[in-house]
Amino acid sequence: MTQQLSWEQLQTIMQAESIDQLSMQQLNELFHAEQQMIPFLPDSICQIDPRDGELIVYNSTRARRPHDSETVKIPLTPAEKPCVICQGKTTGVIDVARLSQGATFINKNLFPIIYPLQNVLEECRQQPLYPDPTHTGRQSYGFHFLQWTSSHHDQDWHNLSLEDGLIVLQRLAALEQKLLYESEGLMPPSEIPPPRKPTHGFVSIIKNHGQLAGGSLAHGHQQIGYSNIMPRCFYNNWCFSQRHQAYFSDYLLRENPAELMIRDYDNVVLIVPYFMRRPYDMLLLLKNPDRQYLHELTIDEMREVTQGIQDAIRALLHIMPLLGRDPAFNMTVNNGPGAGLYLEFFAHTQEIGGFEQLGLWVCQESAINAATYLREVVATMNPARGSRPPSNAPPGRILP
Ligand SMILES: [Zn+2]
Repeated sequence: MTQQLSWEQLQTIMQAESIDQLSMQQLNELFHAEQQMIPFLPDSICQIDPRDGELIVYNSTRARRPHDSETVKIPLTPAEKPCVICQGKTTGVIDVARLSQGATFINKNLFPIIYPLQNVLEECRQQPLYPDPTHTGRQSYGFHFLQWTSSHHDQDWHNLSLEDGLIVLQRLAALEQKLLYESEGLMPPSEIPPPRKPTHGFVSIIKNHGQLAGGSLAHGHQQIGYSNIMPRCFYNNWCFSQRHQAYFSDYLLRENPAELMIRDYDNVVLIVPYFMRRPYDMLLLLKNPDRQYLHELTIDEMREVTQGIQDAIRALLHIMPLLGRDPAFNMTVNNGPGAGLYLEFFAHTQEIGGFEQLGLWVCQESAINAATYLREVVATMNPARGSRPPSNAPPGRILP
Protein backbone atom coordinates (compact mmCIF):
# COMPACT_ATOMS: atom_id res chain seq x y z
CA MET A 1 0.00 0.00 0.00
CA THR A 2 1.37 3.41 -0.88
CA GLN A 3 1.85 6.01 1.80
CA GLN A 4 0.11 9.36 1.64
CA LEU A 5 1.53 12.82 2.13
CA SER A 6 -0.16 14.09 5.29
CA TRP A 7 -1.42 17.62 5.85
CA GLU A 8 1.25 17.99 8.55
CA GLN A 9 4.04 16.93 6.17
CA LEU A 10 2.67 19.27 3.54
CA GLN A 11 2.87 22.16 6.01
CA THR A 12 6.57 21.54 6.60
CA ILE A 13 7.33 22.44 2.97
CA MET A 14 4.64 25.11 2.61
CA GLN A 15 5.99 28.58 1.82
CA ALA A 16 2.63 30.22 1.16
CA GLU A 17 -0.89 29.01 1.56
CA SER A 18 -2.10 30.79 -1.54
CA ILE A 19 -0.53 32.23 -4.65
CA ASP A 20 -2.55 35.33 -3.87
CA GLN A 21 -0.31 36.05 -0.84
CA LEU A 22 2.83 36.27 -2.97
CA SER A 23 4.13 39.10 -5.09
CA MET A 24 5.94 38.23 -8.30
CA GLN A 25 9.17 39.37 -6.65
CA GLN A 26 8.65 37.01 -3.73
CA LEU A 27 7.88 34.22 -6.15
CA ASN A 28 11.09 35.02 -8.02
CA GLU A 29 13.08 34.93 -4.77
CA LEU A 30 11.55 31.60 -3.77
CA PHE A 31 12.81 30.07 -6.99
CA HIS A 32 16.32 31.36 -6.43
CA ALA A 33 16.28 30.15 -2.83
CA GLU A 34 15.56 26.56 -3.95
CA GLN A 35 19.12 25.23 -3.57
CA GLN A 36 18.30 21.65 -4.57
CA MET A 37 17.23 22.93 -7.99
CA ILE A 38 20.63 24.46 -8.81
CA PRO A 39 22.24 21.30 -10.29
CA PHE A 40 19.31 20.91 -12.69
CA LEU A 41 18.95 24.36 -14.18
CA PRO A 42 18.15 24.71 -17.89
CA ASP A 43 20.52 26.19 -20.45
CA SER A 44 18.05 29.10 -20.93
CA ILE A 45 18.49 28.98 -24.70
CA CYS A 46 15.71 28.69 -27.24
CA GLN A 47 16.36 27.64 -30.84
CA ILE A 48 13.88 27.66 -33.69
CA ASP A 49 13.65 24.94 -36.33
CA PRO A 50 13.87 27.09 -39.49
CA ARG A 51 11.54 24.70 -41.37
CA ASP A 52 8.41 25.00 -39.30
CA GLY A 53 9.04 27.46 -36.51
CA GLU A 54 8.92 24.86 -33.72
CA LEU A 55 10.67 26.10 -30.63
CA ILE A 56 13.24 23.97 -28.84
CA VAL A 57 14.52 24.72 -25.37
CA TYR A 58 17.44 22.85 -23.90
CA ASN A 59 18.29 21.46 -20.52
CA SER A 60 21.35 19.34 -20.78
CA THR A 61 21.10 18.48 -17.08
CA ARG A 62 17.76 16.72 -17.43
CA ALA A 63 19.39 13.43 -18.37
CA ARG A 64 20.39 13.17 -14.72
CA ARG A 65 16.85 12.88 -13.46
CA PRO A 66 17.05 10.01 -10.98
CA HIS A 67 13.51 8.73 -11.49
CA ASP A 68 14.14 8.41 -15.23
CA SER A 69 16.88 5.85 -14.87
CA GLU A 70 14.48 2.93 -14.75
CA THR A 71 12.14 3.95 -17.54
CA VAL A 72 13.63 1.88 -20.34
CA LYS A 73 11.34 -1.08 -19.73
CA ILE A 74 7.76 -0.46 -18.66
CA PRO A 75 6.66 -2.89 -15.96
CA LEU A 76 3.17 -4.36 -16.36
CA THR A 77 2.40 -3.69 -12.71
CA PRO A 78 3.45 -0.35 -11.24
CA ALA A 79 6.76 -0.58 -9.42
CA GLU A 80 6.39 -0.29 -5.65
CA LYS A 81 9.25 2.15 -5.36
CA PRO A 82 8.68 4.97 -2.87
CA CYS A 83 7.08 8.11 -4.29
CA VAL A 84 9.17 11.23 -3.64
CA ILE A 85 6.04 13.40 -3.52
CA CYS A 86 4.33 11.23 -0.91
CA GLN A 87 7.53 11.44 1.13
CA GLY A 88 7.47 15.23 0.88
CA LYS A 89 10.90 15.21 -0.82
CA THR A 90 10.11 18.04 -3.17
CA THR A 91 10.41 21.78 -3.59
CA GLY A 92 8.61 24.40 -1.50
CA VAL A 93 4.86 24.67 -1.95
CA ILE A 94 3.41 28.02 -3.00
CA ASP A 95 -0.31 27.24 -3.13
CA VAL A 96 -2.43 24.67 -1.33
CA ALA A 97 -6.16 24.01 -1.09
CA ARG A 98 -7.93 21.31 0.88
CA LEU A 99 -9.97 18.70 -0.98
CA SER A 100 -12.61 16.45 0.58
CA GLN A 101 -9.65 14.09 1.18
CA GLY A 102 -6.14 15.50 1.33
CA ALA A 103 -5.19 18.62 -0.60
CA THR A 104 -4.15 19.89 -3.99
CA PHE A 105 -0.97 21.95 -4.12
CA ILE A 106 1.41 23.79 -6.43
CA ASN A 107 5.19 23.86 -6.13
CA LYS A 108 8.26 24.46 -8.27
CA ASN A 109 9.48 21.90 -10.75
CA LEU A 110 12.77 20.53 -9.47
CA PHE A 111 13.85 19.93 -13.09
CA PRO A 112 12.73 23.18 -14.75
CA ILE A 113 12.66 23.70 -18.50
CA ILE A 114 12.72 27.47 -17.88
CA TYR A 115 14.07 29.44 -14.95
CA PRO A 116 13.93 33.11 -13.84
CA LEU A 117 17.19 34.64 -15.07
CA GLN A 118 18.83 37.40 -13.02
CA ASN A 119 19.80 39.49 -16.04
CA VAL A 120 17.15 39.57 -18.72
CA LEU A 121 18.07 41.36 -21.94
CA GLU A 122 15.92 44.36 -22.75
CA GLU A 123 14.82 42.89 -26.11
CA CYS A 124 13.32 39.92 -24.24
CA ARG A 125 11.04 42.26 -22.31
CA GLN A 126 9.77 43.86 -25.51
CA GLN A 127 8.74 40.86 -27.61
CA PRO A 128 8.57 37.07 -27.37
CA LEU A 129 11.13 36.54 -30.13
CA TYR A 130 13.80 38.75 -31.65
CA PRO A 131 16.32 38.39 -34.50
CA ASP A 132 19.28 36.10 -33.86
CA PRO A 133 21.58 36.53 -36.88
CA THR A 134 24.51 34.68 -35.28
CA HIS A 135 22.39 31.66 -34.20
CA THR A 136 23.60 31.78 -30.64
CA GLY A 137 20.02 31.38 -29.48
CA ARG A 138 17.66 33.64 -27.60
CA GLN A 139 17.21 34.04 -23.88
CA SER A 140 14.37 31.88 -22.62
CA TYR A 141 13.29 32.33 -19.04
CA GLY A 142 10.35 32.10 -16.70
CA PHE A 143 8.91 29.74 -14.11
CA HIS A 144 8.15 26.02 -14.22
CA PHE A 145 5.55 24.84 -11.72
CA LEU A 146 3.93 21.54 -10.86
CA GLN A 147 0.38 21.18 -9.65
CA TRP A 148 -0.18 17.96 -7.72
CA THR A 149 -3.83 17.10 -8.31
CA SER A 150 -4.07 15.53 -4.86
CA SER A 151 -1.74 14.79 -1.96
CA HIS A 152 -3.15 11.24 -2.18
CA HIS A 153 -0.96 9.22 -4.49
CA ASP A 154 -3.74 7.39 -6.31
CA GLN A 155 -6.08 10.35 -6.78
CA ASP A 156 -6.26 12.31 -9.99
CA TRP A 157 -8.93 13.82 -12.24
CA HIS A 158 -10.49 10.46 -13.07
CA ASN A 159 -11.36 9.55 -9.47
CA LEU A 160 -11.87 12.96 -7.83
CA SER A 161 -15.39 14.20 -7.23
CA LEU A 162 -16.58 16.97 -9.53
CA GLU A 163 -16.36 19.50 -6.68
CA ASP A 164 -12.78 18.48 -5.83
CA GLY A 165 -11.82 18.62 -9.51
CA LEU A 166 -13.32 22.10 -9.66
CA ILE A 167 -11.02 23.24 -6.83
CA VAL A 168 -7.99 21.88 -8.70
CA LEU A 169 -9.01 23.80 -11.84
CA GLN A 170 -9.68 26.98 -9.84
CA ARG A 171 -6.17 26.91 -8.36
CA LEU A 172 -4.70 26.49 -11.85
CA ALA A 173 -6.75 29.49 -12.95
CA ALA A 174 -5.54 31.55 -9.97
CA LEU A 175 -1.91 30.85 -10.87
CA GLU A 176 -2.56 31.71 -14.53
CA GLN A 177 -4.15 35.01 -13.50
CA LYS A 178 -1.33 35.96 -11.12
CA LEU A 179 1.35 35.34 -13.72
CA LEU A 180 -0.35 37.09 -16.64
CA TYR A 181 -1.32 40.33 -14.89
CA GLU A 182 1.60 40.94 -12.52
CA SER A 183 4.63 40.46 -14.75
CA GLU A 184 4.95 43.75 -16.59
CA GLY A 185 8.64 44.61 -16.82
CA LEU A 186 9.62 40.95 -16.47
CA MET A 187 7.81 39.46 -19.48
CA PRO A 188 7.00 40.76 -22.97
CA PRO A 189 3.36 41.61 -23.78
CA SER A 190 1.46 38.44 -24.67
CA GLU A 191 -0.63 40.30 -27.24
CA ILE A 192 0.05 43.24 -29.56
CA PRO A 193 -1.85 45.51 -29.64
CA PRO A 194 -2.51 44.88 -25.95
CA PRO A 195 -6.05 43.93 -24.92
CA ARG A 196 -8.11 46.14 -22.62
CA LYS A 197 -6.43 44.53 -19.62
CA PRO A 198 -2.84 43.91 -20.80
CA THR A 199 -1.26 40.51 -20.14
CA HIS A 200 2.41 39.54 -20.18
CA GLY A 201 4.18 36.29 -21.01
CA PHE A 202 2.71 32.91 -21.92
CA VAL A 203 1.18 30.35 -19.57
CA SER A 204 1.50 26.78 -20.91
CA ILE A 205 -0.56 24.24 -18.98
CA ILE A 206 -0.06 20.56 -19.77
CA LYS A 207 -0.54 17.13 -18.30
CA ASN A 208 1.47 14.04 -19.16
CA HIS A 209 -0.02 10.75 -18.00
CA GLY A 210 1.75 7.43 -18.42
CA GLN A 211 5.39 6.80 -19.17
CA LEU A 212 4.79 6.47 -22.92
CA ALA A 213 3.40 10.01 -22.97
CA GLY A 214 6.28 11.53 -21.00
CA GLY A 215 4.77 11.18 -17.52
CA SER A 216 7.92 10.63 -15.46
CA LEU A 217 6.21 10.48 -12.05
CA ALA A 218 3.20 8.33 -11.22
CA HIS A 219 1.78 10.81 -8.68
CA GLY A 220 -0.90 12.68 -10.68
CA HIS A 221 0.11 16.20 -11.69
CA GLN A 222 -0.10 19.08 -14.16
CA GLN A 223 2.86 21.14 -15.37
CA ILE A 224 2.68 24.89 -15.79
CA GLY A 225 5.34 26.72 -17.79
CA TYR A 226 5.37 30.51 -17.69
CA SER A 227 7.74 31.83 -20.36
CA ASN A 228 8.84 34.84 -22.36
CA ILE A 229 8.78 32.68 -25.50
CA MET A 230 5.51 31.82 -27.23
CA PRO A 231 4.87 28.11 -27.85
CA ARG A 232 4.20 27.25 -31.48
CA CYS A 233 0.58 26.19 -30.87
CA PHE A 234 -0.20 29.60 -29.35
CA TYR A 235 1.36 31.28 -32.36
CA ASN A 236 -0.59 29.02 -34.72
CA ASN A 237 -3.84 29.93 -32.95
CA TRP A 238 -3.02 33.61 -33.31
CA CYS A 239 -2.16 33.22 -37.02
CA PHE A 240 -5.38 31.29 -37.55
CA SER A 241 -7.46 34.09 -36.02
CA GLN A 242 -5.72 36.65 -38.24
CA ARG A 243 -6.31 34.60 -41.40
CA HIS A 244 -9.92 33.64 -40.68
CA GLN A 245 -11.10 36.60 -38.61
CA ALA A 246 -12.38 34.01 -36.12
CA TYR A 247 -11.00 32.20 -33.10
CA PHE A 248 -10.05 28.60 -33.72
CA SER A 249 -12.55 27.28 -31.15
CA ASP A 250 -15.30 29.29 -32.81
CA TYR A 251 -14.34 27.91 -36.21
CA LEU A 252 -14.44 24.32 -34.95
CA LEU A 253 -17.81 24.81 -33.27
CA ARG A 254 -19.20 25.82 -36.65
CA GLU A 255 -17.27 23.45 -38.90
CA ASN A 256 -16.81 20.19 -36.97
CA PRO A 257 -19.39 17.60 -38.15
CA ALA A 258 -22.24 17.07 -35.65
CA GLU A 259 -21.64 13.30 -35.56
CA LEU A 260 -18.23 13.91 -33.99
CA MET A 261 -19.79 15.46 -30.86
CA ILE A 262 -19.10 13.37 -27.75
CA ARG A 263 -20.95 15.44 -25.14
CA ASP A 264 -22.57 18.88 -25.03
CA TYR A 265 -22.39 20.33 -21.49
CA ASP A 266 -24.21 23.57 -22.35
CA ASN A 267 -21.35 26.10 -22.24
CA VAL A 268 -18.69 23.59 -23.21
CA VAL A 269 -18.49 20.72 -25.74
CA LEU A 270 -16.29 17.63 -25.97
CA ILE A 271 -15.62 16.58 -29.56
CA VAL A 272 -13.42 14.47 -31.78
CA PRO A 273 -11.84 16.88 -34.31
CA TYR A 274 -12.36 16.03 -37.98
CA PHE A 275 -8.58 16.18 -38.35
CA MET A 276 -7.95 13.57 -35.63
CA ARG A 277 -4.28 12.56 -35.82
CA ARG A 278 -4.41 9.66 -33.41
CA PRO A 279 -7.36 7.41 -32.45
CA TYR A 280 -9.41 8.97 -29.59
CA ASP A 281 -7.82 12.42 -29.72
CA MET A 282 -10.36 14.90 -28.29
CA LEU A 283 -10.94 18.64 -27.93
CA LEU A 284 -12.87 20.42 -25.19
CA LEU A 285 -14.15 23.77 -26.48
CA LEU A 286 -15.61 26.77 -24.70
CA LYS A 287 -18.63 28.05 -26.63
CA ASN A 288 -18.18 31.67 -25.60
CA PRO A 289 -15.51 33.06 -27.96
CA ASP A 290 -14.72 35.88 -25.53
CA ARG A 291 -13.11 33.41 -23.13
CA GLN A 292 -9.37 33.44 -23.62
CA TYR A 293 -8.00 32.24 -20.29
CA LEU A 294 -9.09 29.79 -17.58
CA HIS A 295 -9.43 32.52 -14.97
CA GLU A 296 -12.03 34.31 -17.13
CA LEU A 297 -14.51 31.42 -16.87
CA THR A 298 -17.72 31.69 -14.89
CA ILE A 299 -18.25 29.13 -12.15
CA ASP A 300 -20.67 27.22 -14.40
CA GLU A 301 -18.16 27.14 -17.24
CA MET A 302 -15.41 26.10 -14.82
CA ARG A 303 -17.54 23.22 -13.53
CA GLU A 304 -18.35 22.07 -17.07
CA VAL A 305 -14.67 22.18 -18.07
CA THR A 306 -13.87 20.06 -15.00
CA GLN A 307 -16.54 17.56 -16.02
CA GLY A 308 -15.20 17.54 -19.58
CA ILE A 309 -11.63 16.87 -18.40
CA GLN A 310 -12.88 14.06 -16.19
CA ASP A 311 -14.96 12.51 -18.99
CA ALA A 312 -12.10 12.63 -21.49
CA ILE A 313 -9.54 11.17 -19.09
CA ARG A 314 -11.88 8.48 -17.75
CA ALA A 315 -12.70 7.46 -21.32
CA LEU A 316 -9.02 7.16 -22.29
CA LEU A 317 -8.19 5.18 -19.14
CA HIS A 318 -11.07 2.82 -20.03
CA ILE A 319 -10.35 2.46 -23.72
CA MET A 320 -6.57 2.19 -23.91
CA PRO A 321 -6.25 -1.12 -22.00
CA LEU A 322 -8.89 -2.52 -24.36
CA LEU A 323 -6.56 -1.60 -27.20
CA GLY A 324 -3.80 -3.55 -25.45
CA ARG A 325 -1.97 -0.38 -24.46
CA ASP A 326 -0.90 1.11 -21.16
CA PRO A 327 -2.96 4.27 -20.58
CA ALA A 328 -0.93 7.25 -21.74
CA PHE A 329 -2.02 10.67 -22.94
CA ASN A 330 -1.17 14.38 -22.97
CA MET A 331 -3.57 17.19 -22.14
CA THR A 332 -2.83 20.77 -23.23
CA VAL A 333 -4.60 24.07 -22.58
CA ASN A 334 -4.79 26.44 -25.56
CA ASN A 335 -5.19 29.87 -24.01
CA GLY A 336 -3.99 33.29 -25.13
CA PRO A 337 -4.62 35.33 -28.24
CA GLY A 338 -6.55 33.73 -31.09
CA ALA A 339 -7.51 30.40 -29.54
CA GLY A 340 -10.80 31.26 -27.97
CA LEU A 341 -10.19 28.71 -25.24
CA TYR A 342 -9.87 24.97 -25.71
CA LEU A 343 -8.20 21.93 -24.23
CA GLU A 344 -6.71 19.17 -26.32
CA PHE A 345 -6.30 15.49 -25.38
CA PHE A 346 -3.68 13.51 -27.29
CA ALA A 347 -4.12 9.78 -26.82
CA HIS A 348 -0.93 7.77 -27.09
CA THR A 349 -2.70 5.14 -29.15
CA GLN A 350 -0.08 4.95 -31.90
CA GLU A 351 3.63 5.49 -32.02
CA ILE A 352 5.19 8.30 -34.02
CA GLY A 353 6.68 6.79 -37.16
CA GLY A 354 8.70 8.01 -40.09
CA PHE A 355 5.69 9.29 -42.03
CA GLU A 356 4.73 11.44 -39.05
CA GLN A 357 8.28 12.81 -39.00
CA LEU A 358 7.64 13.95 -42.57
CA GLY A 359 4.41 15.61 -41.48
CA LEU A 360 2.22 12.84 -42.92
CA TRP A 361 0.18 11.52 -40.01
CA VAL A 362 -1.13 7.97 -40.50
CA CYS A 363 -4.08 7.42 -38.16
CA GLN A 364 -5.37 3.86 -37.63
CA GLU A 365 -8.98 4.78 -36.89
CA SER A 366 -11.68 6.96 -38.40
CA ALA A 367 -12.91 10.01 -36.51
CA ILE A 368 -16.52 8.86 -36.81
CA ASN A 369 -15.79 5.44 -35.24
CA ALA A 370 -13.79 7.02 -32.45
CA ALA A 371 -16.52 9.58 -31.69
CA THR A 372 -19.25 6.94 -31.70
CA TYR A 373 -17.39 4.76 -29.23
CA LEU A 374 -16.34 7.68 -27.03
CA ARG A 375 -19.97 8.83 -26.87
CA GLU A 376 -21.02 5.37 -25.64
CA VAL A 377 -18.26 5.21 -23.03
CA VAL A 378 -18.91 8.73 -21.70
CA ALA A 379 -22.66 8.09 -21.54
CA THR A 380 -22.09 4.87 -19.58
CA MET A 381 -19.82 6.70 -17.15
CA ASN A 382 -22.54 9.29 -16.54
CA PRO A 383 -25.58 7.02 -16.06
CA ALA A 384 -27.88 9.84 -14.98
CA ARG A 385 -27.94 11.00 -18.57
CA GLY A 386 -29.42 7.71 -19.79
CA SER A 387 -27.07 5.24 -21.36
CA ARG A 388 -26.45 1.85 -22.79
CA PRO A 389 -23.36 -0.20 -22.10
CA PRO A 390 -20.53 0.07 -24.62
CA SER A 391 -19.61 -2.93 -26.71
CA ASN A 392 -16.83 -5.05 -25.25
CA ALA A 393 -14.05 -3.71 -27.38
CA PRO A 394 -13.57 -0.45 -29.20
CA PRO A 395 -13.97 -0.62 -32.96
CA GLY A 396 -10.90 -0.79 -35.10
CA ARG A 397 -8.79 -2.54 -32.49
CA ILE A 398 -5.24 -1.58 -33.34
CA LEU A 399 -3.10 -4.51 -34.37
CA PRO A 400 0.51 -4.63 -33.25
ZN1 LIG B 1 2.88 9.78 -4.42
